[in-house]
Amino acid sequence: MASAQDNTIENIPTLNFDAVIVGGGGSGMRASLQLVQGGMKVAVLTKVFPTRSHTVAAQGGIGASLGNMSPDNWHFHFYDTVKGSDWLGDQDAIEYMCREAPKVVYELEHMGMPFDRNADGTIYQRPFGGHSANYGAKAVPRACAAADRTGHALLHTLYQKNLEKGTQFYVEWIALDLIKDHNGDINGVIALDQETGNISVFQAPTTILATGGAGRIFRASTNAYINTGDGLGMAVRAGIPLQDMEFWQFHPTGVAGAGVLLTEGCRGEGAILRNKHGEAFMERYAPTLKDLAPRDFVSRSMDQEIKEGRGCGPNGDYIVMDMTHLGHGEIMKRLPSVFEISHNFGNVDITKEPVPVVPTIHYMMGGIPTNIHGQVTVPDLEAGVDEDGLYAKGKVVNGLYAIGECACVSVHGANRLGTNSLLDLVVFGRAAGQHILDEFAKSDHSYRPLNPRVLDFTQARLDKLQNSTEGYNAQEVGDEIRNIMQNHAGVFRTQELMNEGVKKILEIGEKVQKIHLADKSMVFNTARIEALEVANLYEVAKATMISASLRHECRGAHSVLDYEKPEDDDYAPLGRNDHEWMKHTLWYSEGNRVIYKPVRKVPLTVDYCKPQVRTF
Ligand SMILES: Cc1cc2nc3c(=O)[nH]c(=O)nc-3n(C[C@H](O)[C@H](O)[C@H](O)COP(=O)(O)OP(=O)(O)OC[C@H]3O[C@@H](n4cnc5c(N)ncnc54)[C@H](O)[C@@H]3O)c2cc1C
Repeated sequence: MASAQDNTIENIPTLNFDAVIVGGGGSGMRASLQLVQGGMKVAVLTKVFPTRSHTVAAQGGIGASLGNMSPDNWHFHFYDTVKGSDWLGDQDAIEYMCREAPKVVYELEHMGMPFDRNADGTIYQRPFGGHSANYGAKAVPRACAAADRTGHALLHTLYQKNLEKGTQFYVEWIALDLIKDHNGDINGVIALDQETGNISVFQAPTTILATGGAGRIFRASTNAYINTGDGLGMAVRAGIPLQDMEFWQFHPTGVAGAGVLLTEGCRGEGAILRNKHGEAFMERYAPTLKDLAPRDFVSRSMDQEIKEGRGCGPNGDYIVMDMTHLGHGEIMKRLPSVFEISHNFGNVDITKEPVPVVPTIHYMMGGIPTNIHGQVTVPDLEAGVDEDGLYAKGKVVNGLYAIGECACVSVHGANRLGTNSLLDLVVFGRAAGQHILDEFAKSDHSYRPLNPRVLDFTQARLDKLQNSTEGYNAQEVGDEIRNIMQNHAGVFRTQELMNEGVKKILEIGEKVQKIHLADKSMVFNTARIEALEVANLYEVAKATMISASLRHECRGAHSVLDYEKPEDDDYAPLGRNDHEWMKHTLWYSEGNRVIYKPVRKVPLTVDYCKPQVRTF
């Protein structure tokens, strides 16, 4: 690793590309493919081998209204997604995604993605939570699936296409900071090679953040250990705010005690959630969609059953998911990974007995704010607020895009529908790639000279760790963050719990600043990587806790007991207060400041989907 003496730009390797993408998951590799096919020189940096990116864990499917199993169209998909988002999603982005869905799925099919097939050769589709036909009338099979290994199939398909077209992969590199010039434009990233511990500059007129989720801010999570929100940390350090971070999805069916996910595809194939009396209780909460209501709804219903004493097991602290009626053959054909996971993590043979499950943190609806081209957009603070006190005018951060789970475009609003993330990756990965190609053709894309002191900030962060002689252990600090988030930002929140959470998360800042790196070795020093990741985790946790404490309503995944209201409340049915809170949160790290911007209500071609009371 370069020392404090030689941190001028001449002493550090500089690699030049047309575009640098941080992240080799589904979104990063869909964007890189678009770019490299368009003739660009593209680098993809990734902390792990690309096909180990977290997209590989996606099980149930990718949503598209192909209508292969029963009539469907993108208007229904649009309506379901807006309703699923509890009207916080931006309707232009949602329309774009739902309209593009069939096209991007057929593209994947033509690239060779091994989808399951129907007898007539069309792509197999299964029902999923919140997906309906005729505007909520009945469940519809919309999830295009490759058994319960859809993400695996998608990621390998994209990796092979990228290899074929010449994308350059930098595997086991960790990007540390964005390179920002005096205009605020982004000119690439500074990254560390884990193998040597050395840093390099990746210079490019365009940088895409595709770093995935940050589910590791919670103790019980379906997310991989690498999901530490690095892209969000990088954005925050460049002065960019994070959007809607109070909204985190709890997936209803994590294996109890382990947290590992059992896909919603189980319920799509007919699995039933039961309480200790064996009752299929979702029929009471969601008479139409039952077990296939959206995730926020099902998770809350499960928690309610447990709270009211109908949980299963000796402590009454879980629910069971019953698949025994599906039969051995169907389970092994459609849900082979679920069979394995239940056996390995729950010690249960799902063909013979129900598996214990609990809601587990799964997905980050918020992220780095972007427009529908994937360009990172920040509020124009100088333009001031509109009559509602909102920052309506935004401006693009030149040279910077964000896609996938780290971005907030926002199609998922306050609650994501299952299968809409894989779709988001390929729709907006492709869109960002195409937009960059179009802009590149029009612009002067010569490399701008870098400030000779461009490395100072990053080098100082590394030196601080390298020169530390005492302080706190990174893993223990990370665990403290995770415990605070688990206890203060769970499925059900209260104002008091959140306020306490804010206090605790701010207090821990001192420890984050004083992390001690005991092992100073250079080669594959995972302790150094973990220490760097904790800095990112902390930003995401602060953003979440503070944004949550300031949203005084119930919406989607943000469920606060103090603000609960009945369905027929005139002003705020079910606690959702559109008069005051139909707006996006923007959190700035500097001063922990929060401001708000309007929801984009105007779709591209269809009429505004007006808010309704959200029942299923
Ligand atoms: C268990 C599970 C099942 C799921 N099933 C489904 C499903 O069936 N359908 C659906 O639609 N969604 C599903 N999801 C959600 C979906 O899989 C994810 O939201 C999505 O795959 C994220 O893709 P991504 O491209 O944004 O990021 P990822 O696939 O997580 O990739 C992130 C990439 O960024 C890299 N990276 C991160 N930080 C750095 C750094 N500092 N430097 C360099 N590289 C970095 C990583 O190495 C990785 O390559 C599931 C999620 C989970 C956890």
